[in-house]
Amino acid sequence: MSKMTRFTSLCKEITENILDSLDLVELSSLATMTSTLHTNIDEYIQRCRRIIFARFISNIQEFVGLLQGTGAVVSGSCALNLVQARQGAVAINDLDIYTTLQNFKDFVQFFTETEHYTVIRNINHPPPGPYNSSGMAKLFRLQNNGRNVDIIVTNLSSAISPIFQFHSTIVMNFISAEAVFCAYPGWTLDMAGLVHPRMYKQNATNFATVKGLAKYMQRGFTVYLEITELAVHESRCVKMYYCPQITRSTNDKGKLAWVAGHKETATGALGSANYIDTKAVIWSLGGDQCYNERVSGSPSFVFAT
Ligand SMILES: [Zn+2]
Repeated sequence: MSKMTRFTSLCKEITENILDSLDLVELSSLATMTSTLHTNIDEYIQRCRRIIFARFISNIQEFVGLLQGTGAVVSGSCALNLVQARQGAVAINDLDIYTTLQNFKDFVQFFTETEHYTVIRNINHPPPGPYNSSGMAKLFRLQNNGRNVDIIVTNLSSAISPIFQFHSTIVMNFISAEAVFCAYPGWTLDMAGLVHPRMYKQNATNFATVKGLAKYMQRGFTVYLEITELAVHESRCVKMYYCPQITRSTNDKGKLAWVAGHKETATGALGSANYIDTKAVIWSLGGDQCYNERVSGSPSFVFAT
């Protein structure tokens, strides 16, 4: 019996305990070992996702169907929690849903009618605050039994665009119908992150964004202003996925993504997943920081293909 066969035949509680101690990078690499492990880990990740959604939603299947039909995603503490190892993951606060002007009504209807939430706040063009990016059109806060759901509506063409305008790289994660995505896995799983240069370059800072950052620092994250304090940033920069000047894409190799039921084969990846195989979102953190002076001083941007 091979070591891997022995691992998969360990009693369920032990296997579960081991999986609970692994983050998404470790789970992904373990899953490449055998197809049985891949199947077990896929089931484990889907189960973790269901547990997270079940805190807020009764009709999970219908909700995932809505995510799939509209390209909406869940971000914030729910997504970060799923990227980290279950043991020691950040506490989950609210369910943050990112959607577009075309589709937000479906979510408001789902939460009010199917899930019996009440809209307690409905803001058009939110003022400067945690949701202060220029692409923000509306914000709904819904409540049910002490549970909060935020529906964040962008006027950009892609629901996930605002995520890459947020205060730091720590929150650049999302859960879509098909996948769990982390833009900066090395830093995030190391509980570190870079402040988004647009915070100080493009006057996107205010009390609420500082408060948002402080919340993650209280949770044990270290947030850096200087790329050189965070990573080796020498002559290899702009070729690295971690250089603030590089143009990143949601389907590049710098990201971490687990795609449900997705198996790599000799002929390539099967199936297609929104944002990861198709319809990518492109972004650059920008700012002044780079070893290469010729490329520094560029604006931050995000756009959808
Ligand atoms: Zn650089």
